[in-house]
Amino acid sequence: MATHYDIAVVGAGASGVLAAWSAAHHGARVALVEAAPACGGIVRHGLQRWLCGLFPCDVSQPNEFLHGEGVERFCRLLVRDDPRKQAVRRGRVWLLPIASGKVFSDCAQALLATKPTIELFSQDPVVATTLSTPLNPSPHAKITAVTLLSGKTLEASVFIDCTGQAELSRLAGALIDTPHEPALAGFGFEVEGLQLSEASTFGLAIDVPKACRIAVESGVLELEAHYTTCEVSEESGCAWVRMALPPGVRDDAARSAAQALFSFLQRQLPAFKGSRMRTLIPYPLLREAPRLCGRYMLTEGDVLSACTFEDAIARNSWPIERWDPEKGIRYGYLPEGQWHEIPARCLQPVQGPSNLLCAGMMLSADSSAQASIRVIATCMATGEAAGKLAVQHAL
Ligand SMILES: Cc1cc2nc3c(=O)[nH]c(=O)nc-3n(C[C@H](O)[C@H](O)[C@H](O)COP(=O)(O)OP(=O)(O)OC[C@H]3O[C@@H](n4cnc5c(N)ncnc54)[C@H](O)[C@@H]3O)c2cc1C
Repeated sequence: MATHYDIAVVGAGASGVLAAWSAAHHGARVALVEAAPACGGIVRHGLQRWLCGLFPCDVSQPNEFLHGEGVERFCRLLVRDDPRKQAVRRGRVWLLPIASGKVFSDCAQALLATKPTIELFSQDPVVATTLSTPLNPSPHAKITAVTLLSGKTLEASVFIDCTGQAELSRLAGALIDTPHEPALAGFGFEVEGLQLSEASTFGLAIDVPKACRIAVESGVLELEAHYTTCEVSEESGCAWVRMALPPGVRDDAARSAAQALFSFLQRQLPAFKGSRMRTLIPYPLLREAPRLCGRYMLTEGDVLSACTFEDAIARNSWPIERWDPEKGIRYGYLPEGQWHEIPARCLQPVQGPSNLLCAGMMLSADSSAQASIRVIATCMATGEAAGKLAVQHAL
């Protein structure tokens, strides 16, 4: 038997958690459906240590939040303090530290627990949708229900796709944009037992990329190893090594590449001798995945010209961070101290069920704009906005 909710949010990553919280905050009864055993999405296991996009760029102090109440609440829980006091400046941008993927996931759970009208269905992906009428030729078709792997059926007035890869939209027959030349994927591992006293005076953050660059130039490592980074953790003798891999790399090839890189570092750098690989990211992380074709597609020009919109629902000032397989990492900054807006139309399908919205990294944007708006705080902000929009349609 089906259970009815006002709003169903699919995907409990950064955007989905905020979408569910926001919908509940505005009075809705919400179902939040997640394929994984816990909330947090990519950030839960992606070894990400910095939450980007919370503050405007170029400011001397991060006094102003770019986003709404929900994002601010989440970030306060995350750092157990005023995020403005914990922010760290790197060049033109401000970052908020994330202690670990587990801390991020627990924080998501804690935020959701403040809203008793949210029911979480975890480890139970959406596998099918039911439409009121066939999508073609009717432009008025709606999603009436989603079916979960367990066989449960959830009905709702509005559905929000926060799957990061337009999975719900695809199941519902909405038009999807699949990137032709996607950005480099991310992968990595955590190392323990390092002899940090054996590192050079510059530290492993310099030693590791330098060793990798030399190895790429001499043909020992693949081209993508050029973008390897290493960050020493607060835990004694531990560090995170992050790698770039070709888009579309298979899970087993990613694991082999990580193992090859680790063996290389053990041979090459005295600090790695006797160290052990502790955790490996479970699968390659896609910087670019299928996105919704929305009523409006945010463009590189919109981002770089700090464009504003009448139907704006969120702001973003993070630079375009393009991880190009051929040209490497390229940054494109907005005019100093400015931000652009994201219109509501980017969350609505141009061709698809009329009660479908989306948020997060899969909203409607070209490759370059997506390389800016995919940072965690902006994903959360679009999630928060989608939750509010959904309530306006549903209640
Ligand atoms: C390699 C890499 C490094 C990054 N580094 C940073 C960084 O340092 N700082 C930063 O701010 N941003 C970073 N980002 C960007 C940022 O982490 C992501 O863009 C953002 O977290 C995406 O959030 P999301 O909610 O849109 O999607 P996701 O985090 O992908 O969440 C989607 C959720 O939907 C679930 N799901 C999928 N299909 C279904 C289904 N059928 N049914 C139910 N649930 C489903 C998934 O299990 C997942 O939990 C990085 C991204 C990548 C790829």
